[in-house]
Amino acid sequence: MSVTPAAIYIVATPIGNLADISQRALDTLTQVDIIFAEDTRNTRKLLSHYGIHNTLHSLHEHNEVEKTQYIIQLLEKNQSIALVSDAGTPLISDPGYRMVNILSQAGFSIIPIPGACAIITALSIAGLSTERFTFEGFLPSKPSARRAYLEENQQEVRTQVYYESSHRIQASIADFQQVFGQHREIVLARELTKLYEDIFRGTIAELSVWIDADPMHKKGEFVLILQGFTKTENNDEYTLSSEKVLSSLLEELPVKQASSIAAKMLNISKNNLYKQALQLKSKGNKPKN
Ligand code: SAM
Repeated sequence: MSVTPAAIYIVATPIGNLADISQRALDTLTQVDIIFAEDTRNTRKLLSHYGIHNTLHSLHEHNEVEKTQYIIQLLEKNQSIALVSDAGTPLISDPGYRMVNILSQAGFSIIPIPGACAIITALSIAGLSTERFTFEGFLPSKPSARRAYLEENQQEVRTQVYYESSHRIQASIADFQQVFGQHREIVLARELTKLYEDIFRGTIAELSVWIDADPMHKKGEFVLILQGFTKTENNDEYTLSSEKVLSSLLEELPVKQASSIAAKMLNISKNNLYKQALQLKSKGNKPKN
């Protein structure tokens, strides 16, 4: 292949395993006049691995708009350009959409070079319905905002895909438990395509136990895939949520004892229930309808 002048290529790179890159992507990265990368040091490692020596410039979320002006000048001089991000497909929870938007409105040629993307990789092994799914990106870092975000999805019937980092995985799973209950199916895909790739499949309650079982389970990069809401969740079994169990126990028992008994009944982490019990206590222990 040979690259088209005055065009920008949006090139997917691996999400871990360096072998997961197409021949077309490598040819493009070799032949373009200049590559814009989220982190040039990171992309340099990929290029060195494949013996590619090309010019790298940075384009990240803080300089994207000003770099777009420079890219326009280069395209007007008939240069060919590639955009890559640190991992996977650019623009997917990564910089680039403002640039692509401006360039497309200006009539420039924008060419995709497809490849790895953590969303699709995780969905391909989850075993949950892929007929319809929503990509939810990263959850907000503040607990109250995160909970509100999840609550909006409580009755979402489509499969949902979330990105998560090691800093917040435990807190996010605790919130999933509170918002979606114990019984929904969930898949956690950790370190996809890497040495310590790990896939957990089970209910949210089982995931909560699994994440606490080993410090390694909290390390790395994660995709969470949640089964969509089904009508059967309206049944009595589902409504036996941790909140209802704790609320009843708290009427008779102190927080520590209530969370310990609830943990045994629901087979989920005592620590998470303890935190939830404290919150319920401070709210006056009123169960939600
Ligand atoms: N553009 C990337 C893509 O195409 O998937 C996503 C970039 S986003 C900044 C990084 C997030 O993607 C991580 O925090 C994690 O949620 C997910 N991710 C990326 N690589 C992953 C991997 N190897 N295993 C699991 N999740 C991954």
